[in-house]
Amino acid sequence: MPHMPIIRPFAFALLVVLQYPPPAVDVPHRTVPQWVAPYRDATGRLTGEALSSDAAWQRLAYLGDTFGHRLSGSPNLEAAIRWAVEEMKRDGLENVHTEPVKVPHWVRGRESLEILGPIPQPLVMLGLGNSVGTPPAGVEAELLVVRSFEQLDAARDQVKGRIVLFNVPFTNYGETVRFRAMGPSRAGVLGAVAVLVRAVGPAGLRTPHTGALSYVDGQPQIPAAAVSAEDAARLQRIVDRGTTVRLQLKMEAKFLPDADSANVVGEIRGRELPQEVVVIGGHFDSWDVGTGSTDDGGGCIATWEALRLMKKLNLRPRRTVRVVLWTNEENGGRGGQAYRDQHLAELSNHVMMMESDGGVFAPTGFGFTGTEAGRAKVRDIATLLAGIHADNIGPSGGGADIGPSIQHGGMAAMSLEVEGNYFLIHHTPADTVDKIDPLDIARSSAAIAVMTYVVADMPERIR
Ligand SMILES: [Zn+2]
Repeated sequence: MPHMPIIRPFAFALLVVLQYPPPAVDVPHRTVPQWVAPYRDATGRLTGEALSSDAAWQRLAYLGDTFGHRLSGSPNLEAAIRWAVEEMKRDGLENVHTEPVKVPHWVRGRESLEILGPIPQPLVMLGLGNSVGTPPAGVEAELLVVRSFEQLDAARDQVKGRIVLFNVPFTNYGETVRFRAMGPSRAGVLGAVAVLVRAVGPAGLRTPHTGALSYVDGQPQIPAAAVSAEDAARLQRIVDRGTTVRLQLKMEAKFLPDADSANVVGEIRGRELPQEVVVIGGHFDSWDVGTGSTDDGGGCIATWEALRLMKKLNLRPRRTVRVVLWTNEENGGRGGQAYRDQHLAELSNHVMMMESDGGVFAPTGFGFTGTEAGRAKVRDIATLLAGIHADNIGPSGGGADIGPSIQHGGMAAMSLEVEGNYFLIHHTPADTVDKIDPLDIARSSAAIAVMTYVVADMPERIR
Protein backbone atom coordinates (compact mmCIF):
# COMPACT_ATOMS: atom_id res chain seq x y z
CA MET A 1 0.00 0.00 0.00
CA PRO A 2 1.40 3.46 -0.83
CA HIS A 3 1.72 6.17 1.77
CA MET A 4 -1.65 7.13 3.11
CA PRO A 5 -3.03 10.50 2.11
CA ILE A 6 -2.35 13.00 4.84
CA ILE A 7 -3.50 16.60 4.61
CA ARG A 8 -0.24 18.40 5.15
CA PRO A 9 -0.35 21.70 6.98
CA PHE A 10 2.07 23.30 4.55
CA ALA A 11 -0.13 22.25 1.61
CA PHE A 12 -3.07 23.89 3.37
CA ALA A 13 -1.03 27.04 3.97
CA LEU A 14 -0.18 27.16 0.29
CA LEU A 15 -3.86 26.98 -0.59
CA VAL A 16 -4.56 29.94 1.66
CA VAL A 17 -1.75 31.95 0.07
CA LEU A 18 -3.00 31.23 -3.43
CA GLN A 19 -6.51 32.34 -2.62
CA TYR A 20 -7.30 35.90 -3.79
CA PRO A 21 -8.88 37.98 -2.41
CA PRO A 22 -7.60 36.64 0.91
CA PRO A 23 -10.13 34.67 3.01
CA ALA A 24 -12.08 36.72 5.55
CA VAL A 25 -10.74 34.96 8.62
CA ASP A 26 -8.41 36.12 11.31
CA VAL A 27 -5.17 34.24 11.04
CA PRO A 28 -3.93 34.19 14.63
CA HIS A 29 -0.54 35.78 14.89
CA ARG A 30 1.14 34.10 17.82
CA THR A 31 4.23 35.77 19.06
CA VAL A 32 6.66 33.87 21.22
CA PRO A 33 6.20 34.91 24.88
CA GLN A 34 9.16 36.66 26.44
CA TRP A 35 10.20 33.89 28.82
CA VAL A 36 10.31 31.40 25.96
CA ALA A 37 12.28 33.63 23.57
CA PRO A 38 15.69 32.46 24.85
CA TYR A 39 14.76 28.95 23.63
CA ARG A 40 14.49 30.04 20.00
CA ASP A 41 18.10 29.14 19.37
CA ALA A 42 17.77 25.61 20.80
CA THR A 43 14.50 25.18 18.88
CA GLY A 44 16.20 26.10 15.62
CA ARG A 45 19.10 23.74 16.26
CA LEU A 46 16.94 20.77 17.36
CA THR A 47 14.49 21.22 14.50
CA GLY A 48 17.22 21.80 11.94
CA GLU A 49 19.13 18.71 13.04
CA ALA A 50 15.98 16.56 13.03
CA LEU A 51 14.80 17.70 9.60
CA SER A 52 18.20 17.53 7.96
CA SER A 53 18.34 13.73 7.99
CA ASP A 54 16.15 10.65 7.89
CA ALA A 55 17.93 9.11 10.88
CA ALA A 56 14.73 8.43 12.84
CA TRP A 57 13.00 6.75 9.91
CA GLN A 58 16.09 4.67 9.13
CA ARG A 59 16.30 3.48 12.74
CA LEU A 60 12.59 2.60 12.72
CA ALA A 61 12.99 0.74 9.43
CA TYR A 62 15.96 -1.19 10.82
CA LEU A 63 13.99 -2.13 13.93
CA GLY A 64 11.03 -3.56 11.98
CA ASP A 65 13.08 -5.13 9.20
CA THR A 66 15.52 -6.84 11.55
CA PHE A 67 13.43 -8.01 14.48
CA GLY A 68 9.94 -8.19 12.95
CA HIS A 69 7.08 -8.09 15.41
CA ARG A 70 7.74 -7.68 19.13
CA LEU A 71 5.02 -9.58 20.97
CA SER A 72 5.59 -10.01 24.70
CA GLY A 73 7.43 -13.23 25.44
CA SER A 74 8.89 -13.51 21.93
CA PRO A 75 12.62 -13.79 21.27
CA ASN A 76 12.10 -10.96 18.75
CA LEU A 77 11.20 -8.49 21.49
CA GLU A 78 14.11 -9.50 23.69
CA ALA A 79 16.58 -9.24 20.79
CA ALA A 80 15.18 -5.79 19.96
CA ILE A 81 15.60 -4.74 23.60
CA ARG A 82 19.26 -5.79 23.59
CA TRP A 83 19.79 -3.87 20.34
CA ALA A 84 18.10 -0.73 21.76
CA VAL A 85 20.40 -0.78 24.80
CA GLU A 86 23.51 -0.99 22.62
CA GLU A 87 22.26 1.71 20.24
CA MET A 88 21.42 4.09 23.10
CA LYS A 89 24.92 3.63 24.45
CA ARG A 90 26.33 4.31 20.99
CA ASP A 91 24.27 7.52 20.88
CA GLY A 92 26.04 8.60 24.05
CA LEU A 93 22.95 8.48 26.27
CA GLU A 94 23.68 8.15 29.98
CA ASN A 95 22.60 5.62 32.60
CA VAL A 96 21.41 3.23 29.86
CA HIS A 97 19.99 0.08 31.41
CA THR A 98 17.07 -2.33 31.47
CA GLU A 99 14.59 -2.79 34.30
CA PRO A 100 13.19 -6.35 34.55
CA VAL A 101 9.49 -7.05 33.99
CA LYS A 102 7.68 -10.41 33.99
CA VAL A 103 5.28 -10.45 31.05
CA PRO A 104 2.42 -12.71 29.94
CA HIS A 105 3.42 -14.98 27.08
CA TRP A 106 0.53 -15.54 24.71
CA VAL A 107 1.12 -17.32 21.42
CA ARG A 108 -1.23 -17.28 18.45
CA GLY A 109 -0.37 -20.57 16.77
CA ARG A 110 -2.15 -21.54 13.57
CA GLU A 111 -5.69 -20.33 13.09
CA SER A 112 -8.48 -20.37 10.51
CA LEU A 113 -12.12 -19.51 9.99
CA GLU A 114 -14.25 -21.12 7.33
CA ILE A 115 -17.81 -20.86 6.13
CA LEU A 116 -18.97 -24.50 5.94
CA GLY A 117 -22.38 -23.72 4.49
CA PRO A 118 -24.34 -22.64 2.56
CA ILE A 119 -21.19 -22.65 0.39
CA PRO A 120 -17.70 -23.40 1.74
CA GLN A 121 -15.17 -20.57 1.78
CA PRO A 122 -12.27 -19.68 4.08
CA LEU A 123 -12.37 -16.14 5.52
CA VAL A 124 -9.48 -13.90 6.54
CA MET A 125 -9.34 -13.63 10.31
CA LEU A 126 -7.06 -12.81 13.23
CA GLY A 127 -7.47 -14.38 16.63
CA LEU A 128 -7.85 -11.83 19.43
CA GLY A 129 -4.91 -11.44 21.76
CA ASN A 130 -5.16 -13.36 25.05
CA SER A 131 -7.88 -15.62 23.57
CA VAL A 132 -8.07 -19.29 24.48
CA GLY A 133 -7.76 -21.72 21.59
CA THR A 134 -10.28 -24.19 20.23
CA PRO A 135 -10.04 -27.98 20.46
CA PRO A 136 -7.75 -29.31 17.67
CA ALA A 137 -10.75 -30.15 15.48
CA GLY A 138 -12.07 -26.59 15.92
CA VAL A 139 -15.56 -25.50 16.86
CA GLU A 140 -18.38 -25.79 14.36
CA ALA A 141 -21.62 -23.96 14.95
CA GLU A 142 -24.42 -21.90 13.49
CA LEU A 143 -23.79 -18.16 13.27
CA LEU A 144 -25.77 -15.55 15.19
CA VAL A 145 -25.15 -11.92 14.18
CA VAL A 146 -25.86 -9.01 16.54
CA ARG A 147 -25.18 -5.31 16.17
CA SER A 148 -24.98 -4.39 19.86
CA PHE A 149 -24.94 -5.76 23.41
CA GLU A 150 -28.66 -4.89 23.60
CA GLN A 151 -29.37 -7.12 20.58
CA LEU A 152 -27.30 -9.87 22.18
CA ASP A 153 -29.34 -9.68 25.38
CA ALA A 154 -32.61 -9.59 23.41
CA ALA A 155 -31.51 -12.76 21.56
CA ARG A 156 -30.28 -14.48 24.75
CA ASP A 157 -32.39 -17.60 24.14
CA GLN A 158 -30.68 -18.20 20.79
CA VAL A 159 -27.07 -17.77 21.91
CA LYS A 160 -26.38 -21.20 23.40
CA GLY A 161 -24.19 -23.35 21.15
CA ARG A 162 -23.77 -20.61 18.55
CA ILE A 163 -20.85 -18.57 17.21
CA VAL A 164 -21.79 -14.93 17.85
CA LEU A 165 -20.60 -12.17 15.50
CA PHE A 166 -20.64 -8.60 16.84
CA ASN A 167 -21.14 -6.64 13.61
CA VAL A 168 -20.57 -3.13 14.94
CA PRO A 169 -19.23 -0.56 12.46
CA PHE A 170 -16.22 1.46 13.60
CA THR A 171 -17.05 4.91 14.92
CA ASN A 172 -14.08 5.69 17.12
CA TYR A 173 -11.70 3.45 19.00
CA GLY A 174 -13.04 4.09 22.49
CA GLU A 175 -16.61 3.38 21.50
CA THR A 176 -16.02 0.34 19.30
CA VAL A 177 -13.20 -1.43 21.14
CA ARG A 178 -15.53 -2.55 23.95
CA PHE A 179 -17.05 -5.18 21.67
CA ARG A 180 -13.59 -6.68 21.15
CA ALA A 181 -12.70 -6.43 24.83
CA MET A 182 -15.97 -7.46 26.47
CA GLY A 183 -17.87 -9.26 23.68
CA PRO A 184 -16.32 -12.69 24.32
CA SER A 185 -17.39 -12.79 27.97
CA ARG A 186 -20.80 -11.21 27.27
CA ALA A 187 -21.57 -13.98 24.74
CA GLY A 188 -19.74 -16.71 26.63
CA VAL A 189 -21.86 -16.30 29.75
CA LEU A 190 -24.97 -16.86 27.59
CA GLY A 191 -23.58 -20.14 26.25
CA ALA A 192 -21.94 -19.11 22.95
CA VAL A 193 -19.12 -21.42 21.79
CA ALA A 194 -17.03 -18.71 20.10
CA VAL A 195 -17.11 -15.01 19.25
CA LEU A 196 -16.25 -13.04 16.14
CA VAL A 197 -15.92 -9.26 16.16
CA ARG A 198 -16.00 -6.94 13.20
CA ALA A 199 -12.50 -5.47 13.03
CA VAL A 200 -12.03 -2.41 15.23
CA GLY A 201 -10.88 0.06 12.59
CA PRO A 202 -12.20 1.92 9.56
CA ALA A 203 -13.01 -0.28 6.56
CA GLY A 204 -9.73 -1.11 4.84
CA LEU A 205 -9.01 -3.70 2.19
CA ARG A 206 -10.67 -6.70 3.89
CA THR A 207 -8.29 -6.33 6.81
CA PRO A 208 -8.94 -7.89 10.20
CA HIS A 209 -7.43 -6.13 13.25
CA THR A 210 -6.21 -8.07 16.26
CA GLY A 211 -6.06 -6.66 19.80
CA ALA A 212 -6.62 -7.86 23.32
CA LEU A 213 -9.83 -9.25 24.71
CA SER A 214 -10.58 -9.19 28.41
CA TYR A 215 -12.34 -12.18 29.96
CA VAL A 216 -14.45 -11.59 33.06
CA ASP A 217 -13.04 -13.58 35.98
CA GLY A 218 -14.96 -16.71 36.85
CA GLN A 219 -16.97 -16.80 33.62
CA PRO A 220 -16.60 -19.22 30.71
CA GLN A 221 -13.68 -18.38 28.41
CA ILE A 222 -14.48 -18.92 24.74
CA PRO A 223 -12.21 -18.42 21.70
CA ALA A 224 -12.57 -15.13 19.84
CA ALA A 225 -11.32 -13.68 16.56
CA ALA A 226 -11.66 -10.60 14.40
CA VAL A 227 -13.06 -10.64 10.87
CA SER A 228 -12.85 -7.83 8.30
CA ALA A 229 -15.59 -5.22 7.93
CA GLU A 230 -16.38 -6.64 4.48
CA ASP A 231 -16.85 -10.20 5.73
CA ALA A 232 -18.90 -9.05 8.72
CA ALA A 233 -21.22 -7.16 6.38
CA ARG A 234 -21.47 -10.15 4.06
CA LEU A 235 -22.32 -12.56 6.87
CA GLN A 236 -24.92 -10.08 8.11
CA ARG A 237 -26.56 -9.91 4.65
CA ILE A 238 -26.69 -13.68 4.29
CA VAL A 239 -28.28 -14.12 7.70
CA ASP A 240 -30.70 -11.24 7.07
CA ARG A 241 -31.96 -13.15 4.02
CA GLY A 242 -32.98 -15.95 6.34
CA THR A 243 -30.14 -18.29 5.35
CA THR A 244 -28.46 -20.35 8.04
CA VAL A 245 -24.66 -19.97 8.10
CA ARG A 246 -22.42 -22.64 9.62
CA LEU A 247 -18.86 -21.73 10.52
CA GLN A 248 -15.77 -23.58 11.66
CA LEU A 249 -13.19 -21.76 13.81
CA LYS A 250 -9.80 -23.30 14.58
CA MET A 251 -7.30 -21.59 16.87
CA GLU A 252 -4.18 -22.96 18.55
CA ALA A 253 -3.86 -19.85 20.77
CA LYS A 254 -2.58 -20.43 24.30
CA PHE A 255 -0.64 -18.97 27.19
CA LEU A 256 2.82 -20.20 28.12
CA PRO A 257 4.33 -19.39 31.54
CA ASP A 258 5.16 -15.70 32.12
CA ALA A 259 8.39 -14.64 30.42
CA ASP A 260 11.29 -12.35 31.32
CA SER A 261 11.25 -8.98 29.61
CA ALA A 262 12.35 -5.44 30.46
CA ASN A 263 11.77 -1.72 30.11
CA VAL A 264 14.67 0.08 28.43
CA VAL A 265 15.86 3.34 30.02
CA GLY A 266 18.31 5.96 28.80
CA GLU A 267 18.97 9.49 30.05
CA ILE A 268 20.58 12.84 29.66
CA ARG A 269 21.34 13.82 33.23
CA GLY A 270 20.28 17.29 34.28
CA ARG A 271 23.04 19.87 34.73
CA GLU A 272 21.53 21.53 37.83
CA LEU A 273 18.62 19.47 39.11
CA PRO A 274 19.41 15.89 38.03
CA GLN A 275 17.00 14.45 40.59
CA GLU A 276 14.07 16.10 38.80
CA VAL A 277 13.05 14.02 35.80
CA VAL A 278 11.08 14.52 32.60
CA VAL A 279 10.09 11.11 31.19
CA ILE A 280 9.20 10.51 27.56
CA GLY A 281 8.68 7.24 25.69
CA GLY A 282 6.53 4.67 23.95
CA HIS A 283 5.90 0.94 24.22
CA PHE A 284 8.42 -1.33 22.58
CA ASP A 285 6.22 -4.43 22.37
CA SER A 286 3.76 -4.88 19.51
CA TRP A 287 1.20 -7.32 18.19
CA ASP A 288 2.56 -10.26 16.25
CA VAL A 289 1.05 -9.63 12.82
CA GLY A 290 2.95 -6.63 11.37
CA THR A 291 6.23 -5.10 12.48
CA GLY A 292 4.72 -2.70 15.01
CA SER A 293 6.20 0.27 13.17
CA THR A 294 3.34 2.62 13.92
CA ASP A 295 2.16 0.91 17.12
CA ASP A 296 4.44 1.75 18.69
CA GLY A 297 7.91 1.52 17.18
CA GLY A 298 7.51 5.06 15.86
CA GLY A 299 6.67 6.45 19.31
CA CYS A 300 9.71 4.72 20.78
CA ILE A 301 12.10 5.91 18.09
CA ALA A 302 10.77 9.51 18.00
CA THR A 303 11.08 9.98 21.78
CA TRP A 304 14.50 8.30 21.85
CA GLU A 305 15.50 10.53 18.91
CA ALA A 306 14.68 13.59 21.03
CA LEU A 307 17.47 12.59 23.44
CA ARG A 308 19.85 11.72 20.62
CA LEU A 309 19.31 15.19 19.13
CA MET A 310 19.99 16.91 22.48
CA LYS A 311 23.09 14.83 23.00
CA LYS A 312 24.40 15.44 19.51
CA LEU A 313 23.87 19.23 19.87
CA ASN A 314 25.32 19.23 23.36
CA LEU A 315 22.09 20.59 24.84
CA ARG A 316 22.02 19.49 28.46
CA PRO A 317 18.91 20.79 30.22
CA ARG A 318 18.67 21.82 33.87
CA ARG A 319 16.69 18.65 34.74
CA THR A 320 17.16 15.03 33.67
CA VAL A 321 15.43 13.84 30.51
CA ARG A 322 14.72 10.11 30.51
CA VAL A 323 13.45 7.97 27.63
CA VAL A 324 11.64 4.77 28.56
CA LEU A 325 10.69 2.03 26.10
CA TRP A 326 8.00 0.15 28.02
CA THR A 327 7.34 -3.54 27.50
CA ASN A 328 3.99 -5.39 27.30
CA GLU A 329 1.56 -2.53 26.71
CA GLU A 330 -0.52 -4.52 24.24
CA ASN A 331 -1.56 -7.55 26.20
CA GLY A 332 -0.82 -6.85 29.83
CA GLY A 333 0.34 -3.33 30.66
CA ARG A 334 3.01 -4.82 32.91
CA GLY A 335 5.80 -2.48 31.75
CA GLY A 336 3.93 0.66 32.83
CA GLN A 337 3.00 -0.93 36.15
CA ALA A 338 6.56 -2.10 36.78
CA TYR A 339 7.91 1.39 36.03
CA ARG A 340 5.58 2.86 38.64
CA ASP A 341 6.53 0.23 41.21
CA GLN A 342 10.27 0.46 40.56
CA HIS A 343 10.28 4.29 40.70
CA LEU A 344 7.76 4.85 43.50
CA ALA A 345 10.19 6.78 45.68
CA GLU A 346 11.17 8.98 42.76
CA LEU A 347 7.72 9.77 41.33
CA SER A 348 7.35 12.98 43.33
CA ASN A 349 10.38 14.22 41.39
CA HIS A 350 8.83 13.36 38.03
CA VAL A 351 8.07 16.76 36.57
CA MET A 352 6.20 15.59 33.49
CA MET A 353 5.60 12.33 31.62
CA MET A 354 4.91 12.11 27.90
CA GLU A 355 3.90 9.13 25.80
CA SER A 356 3.77 8.86 22.03
CA ASP A 357 1.43 5.99 21.10
CA GLY A 358 -0.83 7.49 18.45
CA GLY A 359 1.51 7.17 15.49
CA VAL A 360 4.22 9.46 14.16
CA PHE A 361 2.31 11.00 11.29
CA ALA A 362 2.19 14.78 10.70
CA PRO A 363 2.49 16.22 14.23
CA THR A 364 -0.10 18.84 15.22
CA GLY A 365 1.02 19.37 18.83
CA PHE A 366 0.42 17.71 22.17
CA GLY A 367 -2.37 16.72 24.48
CA PHE A 368 -1.89 18.01 28.02
CA THR A 369 -3.40 17.04 31.38
CA GLY A 370 -2.31 18.99 34.44
CA THR A 371 -2.87 22.28 36.19
CA GLU A 372 -4.08 25.41 34.41
CA ALA A 373 -0.76 27.08 35.20
CA GLY A 374 1.04 24.13 33.62
CA ARG A 375 -1.19 24.32 30.56
CA ALA A 376 -0.39 28.02 30.14
CA LYS A 377 3.35 27.26 30.25
CA VAL A 378 3.03 24.43 27.75
CA ARG A 379 1.01 26.65 25.42
CA ASP A 380 3.78 29.22 25.63
CA ILE A 381 6.40 26.60 24.76
CA ALA A 382 4.28 25.36 21.86
CA THR A 383 4.59 28.75 20.15
CA LEU A 384 8.16 27.67 19.36
CA LEU A 385 6.69 24.88 17.23
CA ALA A 386 4.50 27.06 14.99
CA GLY A 387 7.11 26.80 12.25
CA ILE A 388 6.54 23.04 11.96
CA HIS A 389 2.78 23.37 12.59
CA ALA A 390 2.99 21.38 15.82
CA ASP A 391 1.84 24.17 18.16
CA ASN A 392 -1.63 22.98 19.17
CA ILE A 393 -2.22 21.99 22.80
CA GLY A 394 -5.21 19.64 23.14
CA PRO A 395 -7.49 19.18 26.16
CA SER A 396 -6.02 15.94 27.50
CA GLY A 397 -2.76 14.03 27.41
CA GLY A 398 -1.66 10.64 28.69
CA GLY A 399 -0.96 7.06 27.67
CA ALA A 400 -1.39 3.48 28.80
CA ASP A 401 2.23 3.16 29.96
CA ILE A 402 2.54 6.45 31.82
CA GLY A 403 -0.99 6.03 33.25
CA PRO A 404 -0.05 4.03 36.38
CA SER A 405 2.70 6.52 37.32
CA ILE A 406 0.50 9.55 36.58
CA GLN A 407 -2.31 8.12 38.71
CA HIS A 408 0.08 7.65 41.57
CA GLY A 409 2.19 10.77 41.21
CA GLY A 410 -0.30 13.27 39.79
CA MET A 411 2.35 14.90 37.59
CA ALA A 412 1.61 16.63 34.26
CA ALA A 413 0.84 14.18 31.44
CA MET A 414 1.38 14.78 27.76
CA SER A 415 1.02 12.88 24.50
CA LEU A 416 2.11 13.61 20.95
CA GLU A 417 -0.85 14.41 18.69
CA VAL A 418 -0.69 13.76 14.96
CA GLU A 419 -2.85 13.82 11.87
CA GLY A 420 -2.86 10.49 10.08
CA ASN A 421 -4.79 7.35 9.43
CA TYR A 422 -3.56 5.47 12.48
CA PHE A 423 -6.54 3.17 13.01
CA LEU A 424 -6.56 1.95 9.41
CA ILE A 425 -3.36 -0.08 10.01
CA HIS A 426 -3.54 -0.41 13.82
CA HIS A 427 -3.00 -4.05 14.95
CA THR A 428 -2.90 -5.34 11.35
CA PRO A 429 -0.31 -7.00 9.12
CA ALA A 430 -0.16 -3.60 7.33
CA ASP A 431 1.52 -1.89 10.30
CA THR A 432 4.86 -1.56 8.54
CA VAL A 433 7.34 1.30 8.17
CA ASP A 434 6.38 2.21 4.59
CA LYS A 435 3.21 3.88 5.94
CA ILE A 436 5.36 6.44 7.74
CA ASP A 437 6.80 9.47 5.94
CA PRO A 438 10.43 10.17 6.94
CA LEU A 439 9.61 13.87 7.18
CA ASP A 440 6.69 13.19 9.52
CA ILE A 441 8.74 11.16 12.01
CA ALA A 442 11.50 13.80 11.77
CA ARG A 443 9.01 16.57 12.60
CA SER A 444 7.48 14.44 15.38
CA SER A 445 10.95 13.97 16.85
CA ALA A 446 11.68 17.69 16.58
CA ALA A 447 8.42 18.63 18.29
CA ILE A 448 9.04 16.17 21.13
CA ALA A 449 12.65 17.32 21.49
CA VAL A 450 11.77 21.02 21.75
CA MET A 451 8.85 20.53 24.15
CA THR A 452 10.85 18.15 26.34
CA TYR A 453 13.99 20.26 26.34
CA VAL A 454 12.19 23.42 27.43
CA VAL A 455 10.09 21.65 30.11
CA ALA A 456 13.32 20.12 31.46
CA ASP A 457 15.25 23.38 31.31
CA MET A 458 12.77 26.13 32.27
CA PRO A 459 13.65 27.93 35.50
CA GLU A 460 10.38 27.14 37.24
CA ARG A 461 9.20 23.55 37.64
CA ILE A 462 6.05 22.74 35.70
CA ARG A 463 3.15 21.55 37.84
ZN1 LIG B 1 0.21 1.20 21.12
